[in-house]
Amino acid sequence: MAKITSLIQSTEAKRLLSIDNIKKVYMNDSRPWIIGYSGGKDSSCVVHLVMNAINELPVQQRTKKIYIVSSDTLVETPLIKLQLEDNLRRIHDASRNLNIPISTHLVHPKTKDTFWVNIIGKGYPTPNQTFRWCTDRMKIEPTNQFIKDIVDQQGEVIMLLGVRKGESSSRDRVIDGYSVENSLLMRHSTLMNAFVYAPIVDFDINDVWNTLLNTESLWGADNSALYQLYSDSNSNECPLIVDKNIKETAGSCGNSRFGCWVCTVVSEDKALSGFISSGVKWLQLLLDYRNWLTDIRDNREMRAKYRTNGSVYFMNLEFKGDRIVIAQKGKRNKLEIKLDGHDSNGEMWRFFDSKAEALKYLSENNINLGSDEDPKIIVREFDGYSMLGLGPFTIDARKEMLKRLLETQKKIFDEFGVDYELISIDEIKEIGRIWLSNGIWNKTIFDIYEKALGKPLSVNQDEVSFLGEDDEALLERICVEENVDLELIKKLLYVERNNIGLQRRDDAIKEIKRILNQDIVNI
Ligand code: SF4
Repeated sequence: MAKITSLIQSTEAKRLLSIDNIKKVYMNDSRPWIIGYSGGKDSSCVVHLVMNAINELPVQQRTKKIYIVSSDTLVETPLIKLQLEDNLRRIHDASRNLNIPISTHLVHPKTKDTFWVNIIGKGYPTPNQTFRWCTDRMKIEPTNQFIKDIVDQQGEVIMLLGVRKGESSSRDRVIDGYSVENSLLMRHSTLMNAFVYAPIVDFDINDVWNTLLNTESLWGADNSALYQLYSDSNSNECPLIVDKNIKETAGSCGNSRFGCWVCTVVSEDKALSGFISSGVKWLQLLLDYRNWLTDIRDNREMRAKYRTNGSVYFMNLEFKGDRIVIAQKGKRNKLEIKLDGHDSNGEMWRFFDSKAEALKYLSENNINLGSDEDPKIIVREFDGYSMLGLGPFTIDARKEMLKRLLETQKKIFDEFGVDYELISIDEIKEIGRIWLSNGIWNKTIFDIYEKALGKPLSVNQDEVSFLGEDDEALLERICVEENVDLELIKKLLYVERNNIGLQRRDDAIKEIKRILNQDIVNI
């Protein structure tokens, strides 16, 4: 009992000091504040303290504008997303009622940067620990853009973050490295004219919970429910990351109730499974889809054997005993290949003595490296063995992903009566546009949509399809007769179509050169 009392007393001292400091920093200048708010415990604690501090100031001194910014990756765990939107609404209403100059903002990635457009449109491999492309595009960039816009309008800003010392030694080093002597502010590591203020930098986790649970929330937040969220899962924070250096110390936010439902960076999903075991059954359908995405990530049949820019590369292979070994990766099993070409699945591999020889064979035989077949090629050179490296998901894999995603959305509605959009029409439109540039000219995307959801896709057909089926068939016949690569011609025609009527041809010529210089044109 004595221990609990002393803990609460120590939190109370830190809370009062923090409120005092917040008032001092607020009154010190007119630079606007931006608070990064994720809905997690640390940023909730910052907003909680700031509202209480500013509420203690006389109304005429509350002149500095405070922006609360949250990010929605568009693949947030549904219940967390709804809760975040609800909290932002409450903060907005309470601020108006209390005369606190706070405005709330929810930022999203640009359509070209969303999870689905990158995966299903461009075929990007789903993110993992070594290829974590998602956080920058989906969280950092939208928030940084918001900050830059405010800096452009106001000159300088101060960012308030819920970072705390003692969470990890790397985080502590970053905090110390950016601190300004004799100041409560830190320099932002990448954004000019932005400073960072961390009002709970000296709080420990008990201080955070004591503050949230034992002092009044001015916007009526249900902090006991928030506590429950953390207590029944081994949940980490998924901070609203606005500083790349702090990001590197933050680990994966997928390992948390606050991450994206589709996160493949972590091996075991925490975002959904906790909710499912507490009774939200429809989320199981999302979990199944996410697990399927994880399963197919390293499947050679579902990935093109060239990079997104069209260049082909070779990956070194291990040679053990008398066998070449393709290592196990993700859900892909280890495969051994004997020197006579037989692999452990009974399939045959073809050997070449140089990469040039292998590429010549591929080109002469018109082998499509973008299809869902692995040409099973091994190059044997003086320094060891190698095979074709993997690139984006194949077009067939992307079609399958879209189909299953829409079917999941339909099933959620049919079986649970929950109307929850998993992918937006704008994203589907952008995916259709990218497929078009990849030579998918027909109405595939319309067919997938209509079949899965049982209603037509209301998008202007010209935006996501090109030429009619008859014209496409005619083009195909001519290409066969003239022995030219159909996919190459399609890509070139698509460039021309996009540049019709433009007087300057520089961009078109650059694009044509790029296409002609690709190692592989037929995807
Ligand atoms: S939760 Fe996972 S998918 Fe989402 S941004 Fe973080 S690491 Fe990427």
